[in-house]
Amino acid sequence: MYFSDLKLHHQLQKALSIQNFNELTKVQELAITRAMQGHDLMVAAKTGSGKTLGFAVPMINQLLTKKPLSRQDARAVVLAPTRELAKQVFGVIKKQCDQTRLQAAIIIGGENFNDQAKKLKHNPEIIVATAGRLADHLDAKHVFLNGLEILILDEADRMMELGFKEQLNQINSAADHRKRQTMWFSATLDGEFITKMAENFLKSPEKIEIDRVETPHSDIEQAFYFSDGPKQKDKQLITLLPEARTQSLVFVATREDTERLSAMLISHDFSAAYLHGEMPQGKRNQTLNDFVNNKTGILITTDLGSRGLDISNIKRVINYDLPKKADEYVHRIGRTGRAGSKGLAFSLVGKKDWWSFVNIKERLKQDLAINNMAGFFTKFQGLKAQQNRGAQTSSPMSEKTPNNKRSMAKNRPRTEDMPKIKDHDAGATMIKRKRN
Ligand code: ADP
Ligand code: MG
Repeated sequence: MYFSDLKLHHQLQKALSIQNFNELTKVQELAITRAMQGHDLMVAAKTGSGKTLGFAVPMINQLLTKKPLSRQDARAVVLAPTRELAKQVFGVIKKQCDQTRLQAAIIIGGENFNDQAKKLKHNPEIIVATAGRLADHLDAKHVFLNGLEILILDEADRMMELGFKEQLNQINSAADHRKRQTMWFSATLDGEFITKMAENFLKSPEKIEIDRVETPHSDIEQAFYFSDGPKQKDKQLITLLPEARTQSLVFVATREDTERLSAMLISHDFSAAYLHGEMPQGKRNQTLNDFVNNKTGILITTDLGSRGLDISNIKRVINYDLPKKADEYVHRIGRTGRAGSKGLAFSLVGKKDWWSFVNIKERLKQDLAINNMAGFFTKFQGLKAQQNRGAQTSSPMSEKTPNNKRSMAKNRPRTEDMPKIKDHDAGATMIKRKRN
């Protein structure tokens, strides 16, 4: 790939060599080209396709070549849905910035607020943040975004789902001027809800959509097994875990189960740990580091671990419970088989998982079959077409559903208990708030 803009070309070569990559991925090539033309972008490409560098390169290039709109204000903000993801993105950006005059800071929840205020006093050009914490600093007037030139929303749909709509709107309006370029990265652009939200943030965006989310990598082998519920699932899980220290990521529906299963596996002499959103940040970091560095073999997590986390080398993903949304399934199994290595994805399908399985099958448009696991007798063999379905779909995401971060933390329903949510249902409750 050759860019006629020499500065950009040079910077790209540097970016590739810093990261040790040979060439750009397709989404990087497209995103960089379009972003350099100054367009607002909506980019959808599957997890693992390299979106981070796709926005980091044009962002840094603009900051290096354009005159700042303001001396003090942040020039670029990158927002990510989780602290872990923000850290990962920050790592990539920091590496790119290190040999330039650009300063980057990370501002995320769970870390000391005053230390962050001090960092912000140095007027870093680039801020990588989680929305909640950045909004807090805006409130405290530690940071101003009037001169913001670039706003990047990484995994934007996920941020909305997590209930950061208010904070995103606040950040959006703190940086509300016509010169701002905004780039929205998601795994999917589907759904009226996403379209409506995007209208608030983007000016006639160009859409780039590659390898839609419903295509899992071909390097992932998927298998589904019938199950009679938790008791049997526990035993099946043990069967699915290899004795050798092959790194495995296990997804469950509830925080309680991450802890219960980790204890259960440890009592069976497995090297296991759990990760969920209510853990103190220090512990979250430690747990993740231990897993990444292969100190723990098995990590049991909720959907917190499904997005963005780039842990290479995971050989298998096990869905102890299936996620309600088909996209989430693709994100989860996308944790394995990354960068060309082969991966295995096993899922246990009990009564509670049945309609999720049906959704996944419809979305993937693949002829997925459920098998009986060798050595187990399982009574559950699937539900008939009409059975139970009405009951589940008749309660769409209601007014009561908390879409505000704080109320969610206090009052978070167990994922198992959540009604099945369709995109447009979520949209109906979440876009009511008018633009400000
Ligand atoms: P996404 O945000 O789309 O999920 P990431 O930006 O996290 O993807 O990148 C996924 C993985 O691919 C990372 O390990 C990253 O280092 C690697 N990667 C990114 N770009 C390239 C490239 N051009 N060549 C090889 N590997 C790449
Ligand atoms: Mg990403």
